[in-house]
Amino acid sequence: MKLIKCEIISNEKIGDELFKMTLFSPYIVKNAIPGQFVNIKCSENNNFDPLLRRPFSIHDVEPDFKVFSILYLLKGKGTYYLSELNSGDMVNFTGPLGNGIKTEEDENNDFLLIGGGIGVAPLYFLAKILSAQNKNVFFAAGFKYNNFLLIEKMFQRLKINYEIYSENGMHGTKGLITDFIMEKADDFKKYSIYCCGPVEMYRTLQNIFSLKDIKAKALFEEIMACGIGVCKGCVMKFKNNNGYVYKTVCKDGPLFDLMEAVFD
Ligand SMILES: Cc1cc2nc3c(=O)[nH]c(=O)nc-3n(C[C@H](O)[C@H](O)[C@H](O)COP(=O)(O)OP(=O)(O)OC[C@H]3O[C@@H](n4cnc5c(N)ncnc54)[C@H](O)[C@@H]3O)c2cc1C
Repeated sequence: MKLIKCEIISNEKIGDELFKMTLFSPYIVKNAIPGQFVNIKCSENNNFDPLLRRPFSIHDVEPDFKVFSILYLLKGKGTYYLSELNSGDMVNFTGPLGNGIKTEEDENNDFLLIGGGIGVAPLYFLAKILSAQNKNVFFAAGFKYNNFLLIEKMFQRLKINYEIYSENGMHGTKGLITDFIMEKADDFKKYSIYCCGPVEMYRTLQNIFSLKDIKAKALFEEIMACGIGVCKGCVMKFKNNNGYVYKTVCKDGPLFDLMEAVFD
């Protein structure tokens, strides 16, 4: 992990309240693995409002150009600040952070990735790495409406199989992506499964997978401060042998066993 200052190559609005920022950083390109994130200072040099850096998953890495990108949704002060930056501006961040997905340790050939909303951001990086390793990747993605239209072109470019659901039917099949998983769960029993999305999606997936005795890993997003495990601001509760244990999302995670997570 390094403290890095680097140049913005582009910062485009690609959907409703959705932006893609591409940054020049040979260090991130060389060292990041899927599931890791960067913690960005979202204010000018001598300004500390907002005080805390904001975490964003590494969404894509392009080694030929030594650039990586993040996808971000407008939420509050930090993301509005980012959305006003232009190519040529500099940003300051720490990264790569977190315990990501070591694809070389998974010998399975078949992978199911389940993304809900902005949760598709880190899973796209994973899909790209897996398809470069000639693995069989199926991406199941669910959105509220049609603000992630561009992601479909990206799946097509990777030549992976995919299914898209949206709550109002404006993009793909009408419904929740968990409806699709419920219907097809048996087909994916032998796949390695990774998911990233909102808590409601995780709760439903836990129910489906416990019925079917399926294992899955998940990337969690918890509001955090330091990003390196010191402040303990992002702890989550997990089941262990006899009881519960608390783990930091920033350092122990963001990758965890989905079935062990407790959403109180
Ligand atoms: C490991 C990790 C990876 C993430 N990756 C991405 C990503 O790739 N793209 C993306 O758009 N967002 C991502 N997030 C969420 C992102 O960090 C928050 O949206 C961002 O910090 C909001 O900052 P803000 O100043 O704009 O909003 P704030 O003013 O801080 O908050 C506005 C609203 O956003 C909610 N919020 C704040 N922080 C989080 C958070 N960590 N998770 C969920 N909701 C939050 C607040 O509860 C509030 O309702 C990630 C979070 C984590 C922990």
